[in-house]
Amino acid sequence: MSRSVVQSLLAKQEFDEVDMARRFAEEYKKEPNRGYGMGVVTVFKKLLSPKCSDVFEPARAQFNGKGSYGNGGAMRVAGISLVYSDIQDVKKFAKLSAELTHSNSLGYNGAILQALAVHLALQGELSRESFLEQLIGHMEDVEADDKSLADARALGFEDLPFSRRLKKIKEFLELSTVPKSDVLFELGNGVAALRSVPTAIYSFLRSMGSDPDIPDHYNNLQRAIIYCISLGGDTDTIATMAGAIAGAYYGEEQVPASWEQSCEAFQETEKVANSLYELYCQQL
Ligand SMILES: [Mg+2]
Repeated sequence: MSRSVVQSLLAKQEFDEVDMARRFAEEYKKEPNRGYGMGVVTVFKKLLSPKCSDVFEPARAQFNGKGSYGNGGAMRVAGISLVYSDIQDVKKFAKLSAELTHSNSLGYNGAILQALAVHLALQGELSRESFLEQLIGHMEDVEADDKSLADARALGFEDLPFSRRLKKIKEFLELSTVPKSDVLFELGNGVAALRSVPTAIYSFLRSMGSDPDIPDHYNNLQRAIIYCISLGGDTDTIATMAGAIAGAYYGEEQVPASWEQSCEAFQETEKVANSLYELYCQQL
C-alpha cells in the first residue's frame, strides 16, 4: 500500500483520492493474500464496486460508523512527506490518504503523526528535544478538534492521547535505561495506531544513541529497526514506520548492502525514490 501511495502521487503529480483508492483496491485484487486485515478487505470490495461514488464512504461505514483506528494509514504514509515540502500540506494529505481506509481520528491522527515525524526527519540535524517539542506542538493542535476529542472519549482514552504519549517518550529519553515492559505498557506494540506510531517514534529517537543490547557495528537506522522487532507484536508495521523516519533522517547511506538484497523490490523502490525527490524539489 505504501507503493500504491507513491505510484498514485507520481502518476497524478499530486494527491488524488480517487486514483489512490483505485490503486489500493486493485492491488488487493491482484494479491489478496498479503496479510490485509479483515476490516479493510470490506473497504476494498466496496471500492471495487462500480456503484461506489464517494471513495471515503466505505471506510466511514466500517465498525458501525465508528471507523477503523488501526495503524495501516500510518504505515503507508511516508510518501506524502517525501512529496510535499509544506507542513500544512503534509498534515492535510496524510489525513486524506489515511481516511480512505481509516475514518476514526485515532487512525488518521496516527497517520498525521507519522507523516510529521518523517517530515521533521527530512529537515536534517534536529535534537531529540526539538524533534519531540515540534511533534507535541503540532499534535496538540491536531487532536484538539471536536471529532478527535469525541473519538478518544468514546474509546475510553484521555483527551489528546497521541500528545500524551509523545510526552511519555520525552520522559523515557531522560532516563538512562527503560525496561521493555514499561515501553510496552505505555506505548504498546499493537495494531492500533495509538499503540504503535509513538513506539516507532520512540525507537527512532532512542537509536540516536547506542544500545547496550545491540552490538556497536549496527548503525542508527539498523538499531531503530532491530529495537522495534525486539519489542514483538506488530513488528513489521512498527519497524516499517521507524525505518521510514530513520531513513528520512540518515539517508540511504545507512541502508547496508546486505539488507538491500533481502528487501522486496529494492531497485524499483530506489527508482521511485528518485522520482519522489524530483517532485519534492519542484515545490521548493
Ligand atoms: Mg503489521
